Amino acid sequence: MGTIAVRLIIVGIVQGVGFRPFIHRAAIKAGVNGYVRNVGGSEVEVFAEGDEAKVARFLRAIMTEHPPPAVIEEVEVISEGPRGIEGFRILKSEARSLRESMIPPDIAICSECLREVLNPRDRRYGYAFNSCAWCGPRFSMMYRVPYDRENTSMAKYRLCHNCVKEYRDVGNVRRYHAQGISCPKDGPKLWITDRLGKRVETSDPIKEAARLIDEGYIVAVKGLGGYHLAALASDDDVVAKLRRRKRRPQKPFAIMALDVGVAGKLVYIDELAKEILNSPQRPIVLLPKRGDSPVSRLVSPGLDVEGVFTPYTALHYLLLRNVRDGFLIMTSGNAYGKPMCINEECAYKLLSGIADYFLVHDREIVNRVDDSVVRFTDGEVVMLRRARGYAPAWIRVKAGFQRPVIAFGAELQSAGAVAFNDKVILTQFIGDAEDLDILEDLDRYIKFLVRTYRIDIKDSVLVVDKHPHYTSRRLASTYSRVYGSRVVEVQHHYAHVLSVMADRGLIGDVVMGIAIDGVGYGDDGAIWGGEVILVRGDLSYERVGHLEYQPLVGGDASVTYPTRFLTSVLSKFLSDGEVFKAVRSLGLVKSLPRGELELKYVVSAVRRGYYVSTSSIGRVLDAVSSLLKVCTYRSYDGEPAMKLEAYSRGGAELDSIDVKVRSLGGEYVVETTAFIDDVLQHVLGGYDGRSIALTAQIRLGEALAHVVAKHVRGLRSFSGVVVLGGGAAVNTYIVRGVRRVLSGEGIEVLLPRRVPPNDGGVALGQAVATITGIDSL
Ligand SMILES: [Zn+2]
Ligand SMILES: [Zn+2]
Repeated sequence: MGTIAVRLIIVGIVQGVGFRPFIHRAAIKAGVNGYVRNVGGSEVEVFAEGDEAKVARFLRAIMTEHPPPAVIEEVEVISEGPRGIEGFRILKSEARSLRESMIPPDIAICSECLREVLNPRDRRYGYAFNSCAWCGPRFSMMYRVPYDRENTSMAKYRLCHNCVKEYRDVGNVRRYHAQGISCPKDGPKLWITDRLGKRVETSDPIKEAARLIDEGYIVAVKGLGGYHLAALASDDDVVAKLRRRKRRPQKPFAIMALDVGVAGKLVYIDELAKEILNSPQRPIVLLPKRGDSPVSRLVSPGLDVEGVFTPYTALHYLLLRNVRDGFLIMTSGNAYGKPMCINEECAYKLLSGIADYFLVHDREIVNRVDDSVVRFTDGEVVMLRRARGYAPAWIRVKAGFQRPVIAFGAELQSAGAVAFNDKVILTQFIGDAEDLDILEDLDRYIKFLVRTYRIDIKDSVLVVDKHPHYTSRRLASTYSRVYGSRVVEVQHHYAHVLSVMADRGLIGDVVMGIAIDGVGYGDDGAIWGGEVILVRGDLSYERVGHLEYQPLVGGDASVTYPTRFLTSVLSKFLSDGEVFKAVRSLGLVKSLPRGELELKYVVSAVRRGYYVSTSSIGRVLDAVSSLLKVCTYRSYDGEPAMKLEAYSRGGAELDSIDVKVRSLGGEYVVETTAFIDDVLQHVLGGYDGRSIALTAQIRLGEALAHVVAKHVRGLRSFSGVVVLGGGAAVNTYIVRGVRRVLSGEGIEVLLPRRVPPNDGGVALGQAVATITGIDSL
């Protein structure tokens, strides 16, 4: 048999996951000569020569035996002439791969590492920082690319004799050439202190922390991407104390459970949910609560889902194993409205009023990474917060960026982005940019991407939301002032639609988008939020329909107190006296902070035209939520709408509630005034509240879908695809309504997969909006 040679270009998640060492090992095992090296951010080049059977065995091993976190997307096999190479080597990375090196996201502890931690005979028994080539922190501990130990906060820990041996042993599957490894002898150390930073004497800090938690104390735990606050989830008094100290009356807390078995006692878990809970990304998953769940009702009041996740480091696993319940509240360790703490300076300053004790380690958290959150919408997985495990993996788009882009996102739940060539890299979830500390973080993580990918800010296009008051715009103005780069405004809902299009590979197609959320500054100066938008092949857009404009009196107050917004809608079709009578008979006067006075003020403001107009679906859902008394005070973003969705469970659809669409001046308008009147009549008529809630959401979805269906009739070159974006696009009943109408028309309805449909994904759309000349593709 003759000697043959092949060159392979392997594309996928192949860096930071032990891929090159694996190739090396496979080559030795198969008996082929050659080399392996990184040649691009997500590409590895392999050259192998040997006799035919050996090369074939090598290729088979690559496909079937690669490390678990590695994902092979494509393999290009090129036949070449043998070069007479002796042995097999890992070559230095090519220079061009440094510029385009993907920053590997953090990976949850693998089952092999966990097995070692739990094995009394293993030298890593009970070791909280165990990791290998397949798992462990990546982005959260990286100062710079590439992912080599000296570029991470593991640099200061010198490997002991045994670890060096493992690192150099090509036969060691998980530790040969693994950058982040350590052991109890040479790795990070743990200790525990009181709230003043005074050490608590103990031989086992994790067991001690578990004991304190079981006694009802709140313990701040330094983890992988930041601090958590850990507390018993089964004890009402403890949860109430945490809520008081954190000044967080209603917003749900996440629960970490030891494993899927324990989690299954709290929530219903199907096969898909189980897979996500055990995935290397290990996000928080919102799942339906069990009726017999031992979790305190105060953990997620008014919601039918619980946010559950499982340990993603040995530290978390050991803590959970030692607490009596096997599950705990693990909520972000941040002060109200502030970013999660990543160092002791922040923790002792901001969390000492919340936590009683601190479980601390000495490994530096370089980049803050919050826990990611996903949910199910109409049976499909949707991302709500993109951070640990997902960020900052890049997203390839079907077109090229002529110039580098820096996108600053929106305002709430924000993330920024940079883009170059055919890639968009979103920062991890940053938070609500209206807070200055969070704005600082946005700056910091955008700059991290700018440095990593050597983006020339001077030459870049800076993209901001059109909203004149968004704080993130200030950051863009600063960049523009310092570097002289151009700032471009992109309309919020158009960006939402583009974001989903980019995620689903639809750039260049004629697509309809439904963008629904709470607030977005419109092209006409009104507050948009219930939009149907057509995007053409050249990325130009047209607003083809929207929810009817409603008066919003006094902006923020009407968002915080949904009854105010309800009152202004009622004023449109009822006389003053009738509005008062209706709000009184619904028992809603007391839900306005200034009662009757406020009621009269809102009606008179509407009469005199003192309001801004809004087509926001969020406000309409708020009004329904208030009508049904599901939520009349909003303590966190989206609360009335989320509680309305939860409340609908078990309701039946009512044929008598309807929403009409009319054509007005070339646009379609969904008539929400008549709709609210309809809902009001059903509430006063004593219909079942859950059924009213359920039907109202389905009908809004159907109405938006009718706008799409009407517009695409006769629309040339329509791709047959509708994308759904915006914070309200995660609402199961709205999506169900949209799908029901459009599936009858043979139109496909798509949600984003890799980015959140909410404002956390807007920066992707903002970046894509700068692409021009696309019809030449
Ligand atoms: Zn591992
Ligand atoms: Zn060691």
